Amino acid sequence: LGLIEGRQIAEILRGATAVDVAGLREKGVAPTLGIVVPTDDKSTASYVDSLVRVAETIGIDIRRTDLVEPSGEEVAAVVGELSTNPDVHGVLCQSPLPPGVLLGDIGAQIHPSKDVDGANPTSLGRLAAGLPAFAPATAQAVIEILRHEQVGLRAADAVVVGRSNIVGKPVALLLVAEDATVTVCHSQTEDLAGQARRADVLVVAVGRPKLIGAEHVKRGAIVVDVGINVTGEGDIVGDVDTAAVEQIARITPVPGGVGPVTTSVLLRNIAGAAGAKRLEEVT
Ligand code: NDP
Repeated sequence: LGLIEGRQIAEILRGATAVDVAGLREKGVAPTLGIVVPTDDKSTASYVDSLVRVAETIGIDIRRTDLVEPSGEEVAAVVGELSTNPDVHGVLCQSPLPPGVLLGDIGAQIHPSKDVDGANPTSLGRLAAGLPAFAPATAQAVIEILRHEQVGLRAADAVVVGRSNIVGKPVALLLVAEDATVTVCHSQTEDLAGQARRADVLVVAVGRPKLIGAEHVKRGAIVVDVGINVTGEGDIVGDVDTAAVEQIARITPVPGGVGPVTTSVLLRNIAGAAGAKRLEEVT
């Protein structure tokens, strides 16, 4: 029972990636992330600044393009250029995108071998088909946390709340690939508490503070809270009532749970993309 330290897991992953990056640099390869920031939103900028800082400390180079109020075509063009640039190994486009522009349409410009955050619908399709592909870093982070906590996934009852292309669906696919028995819940699910209470592994990615309380959780379960919400007081909280649930289950806190692990997975994916000659080698 109690809290799972995401920051510790993130540190371990980052250490391993730093070793991989050093090895690549010895061979003359400088792992490089191309990142497009299509907004002057302050919280996005501070997230990107911290990602860049961490990347640089482990030897990953950054090519950053900031665009102010760009059109969808401009964003797609810059992303497409990075994707065809042989010096760039991984490509990421930050949200929020210009109004009306879909992440999938921008992501489609990224070659699957450089799609380190699984934004191209082709990557999701390949994942569904059991072919090598990058899953979104957040979805991979969920699996890393479960692995680190030594949760046996074979035949485990897993419930995923949320079905977005960037979190819920890929998490469900990765859990199926680990031989869990997976139920996906969403806004139309009847009796969410009844479904969730069956779970040995409960993953929540909705975007609603305290959607999940102790009445949704089986005693002894493991709960991964992916949600990020800003309260009226300006605090960052997840989707789960952490104080209530940590009495009966293991749970990732927000902040300090999935977030830092996601960053580490993204860095690992960049090193993986830089070291691979074919997509088959990246995952
Ligand atoms: P979306 O808004 O795209 O999807 C939310 C999902 O939750 C939808 O499938 C929706 O169902 C479902 N949902 C909404 N209300 C309910 C409800 N009352 N009961 C059950 N299901 C419900 O969000 P994302 O998947 O992009 O993100 C989810 C959360 O994770 C957000 O808080 C986001 O900020 C956070 N996030 C965190 C990341 C990290 O690294 N930690 C990275 C990415 C996201 P329906 O499909 O029926 O509408």
